[in-house]
Amino acid sequence: MERVRVLVIGSGGREHALCRSLKLDPQVSELHCAPGNPGIEEVATVHPVDPLDPGQVAELAARLRVDLVVVGPEAPLVAGVSDAVREAGFACFGPSRDAAMIEGSKAFAKEIMRAADVPTARARTCETEEEAAAALDEFGAPYVVKEDGLAAGKGVVVTDDRDKALAHARACERVVIEEFLDGPEVSLFALCDGSTAVPLQLAQDFKRAYDGDEGPNTGGMGAYTPLPWAPEGLTEQVMREVVHPTIGELARRGLPYQGVLYVGLALTAKGPKVVEFNARFGDPETQVLLDRLETPLGGLLMASATGELGLDPVFRDGAAVTVVIAAEGYPESPVKGDVITGLRETANAYVIHAGTKRAGDDIVSSGGRVLNVVGHGPDQESARRAAYDLVAGIGLRGSFHRTDIAR
Ligand code: AMP
Repeated sequence: MERVRVLVIGSGGREHALCRSLKLDPQVSELHCAPGNPGIEEVATVHPVDPLDPGQVAELAARLRVDLVVVGPEAPLVAGVSDAVREAGFACFGPSRDAAMIEGSKAFAKEIMRAADVPTARARTCETEEEAAAALDEFGAPYVVKEDGLAAGKGVVVTDDRDKALAHARACERVVIEEFLDGPEVSLFALCDGSTAVPLQLAQDFKRAYDGDEGPNTGGMGAYTPLPWAPEGLTEQVMREVVHPTIGELARRGLPYQGVLYVGLALTAKGPKVVEFNARFGDPETQVLLDRLETPLGGLLMASATGELGLDPVFRDGAAVTVVIAAEGYPESPVKGDVITGLRETANAYVIHAGTKRAGDDIVSSGGRVLNVVGHGPDQESARRAAYDLVAGIGLRGSFHRTDIAR
């Protein structure tokens, strides 16, 4: 591969992790990010451009004469940023708006899985209260009710209370009601180039806010990789039963999928079943996966964007663990604008910025999930210790983190 100039779209922990790995790829000659954050500023040139405005992003790509645009979050995908960038003649890592509906609409995802015979929960799409009530009774408790549109992880209600389930259905225009899947959840990310796909390593994230999986659902409070307890051959099985049939079905419908297909799975007694698809890298699983990725990231993303994926990516031995430091009040109403202290790097741990901004000489909190501390080591326990040792030295008034990530 020739030397490439890359523009990353986004401003969270996932995008900081992507930029950090791209910076380490000797073939990436220039690295830009819009809009970026103070952590990203240390490795890339940042540009104050609205990531949700397809025209502005395409214009920036042209002005910088980049070779590749990498779209981080789901919102720009659903806003059509990838389409605009491709129409302007640039290679883009990130599915088209229509293909991103695999995340943007739960009903569409179910339809694709049904057509491609992908193992998932049985489900019904409901638009009226009568339909919803019938579906709840068909599948029984625990009830799973999902808002059809993008809801940033907040549109899903899992409950034993039928009234609560029905109330959620009533509050949404369209819901998918499905059978409850029992079993541990794992994530597999596949890089896709429109016709073929290669897997990254399995990872697991922690969605609840507090220790012991208590408290409200969040975007994710921590993650680790690899999963020493995962069944042998799981990655190959998921590629065969889920990823390839899914991208095949999308291609058949004229929606070739280029980017990352995030497969959220429940390992049920009847085998792995899809809980959800996302059309982008998971946050914070990406932080641990990229820590262990040995294959240079720029080449991989470029190959995905240009239909040239080849061999499976290679991962280093050892483990990585990330711990999210969240602002007081997260997820309901995070407190912002507090000064962060103790930002540093050790031999085996470092800090990824997720919700920070500059205020004079200080770095202050600007989002719910503020920092992701990543530790690595020869095994999970040492990686975990490395992360928590660094967490202990960071100061942010009122902040909290889980103490049981990867324990
Ligand atoms: P989703 O937005 O579809 O990922 O759902 C958010 C979370 O709700 C998942 O990570 C699961 O923990 C839970 N969930 C979703 N669907 C199911 C299901 N069918 N059975 C059990 N839990 C589910």
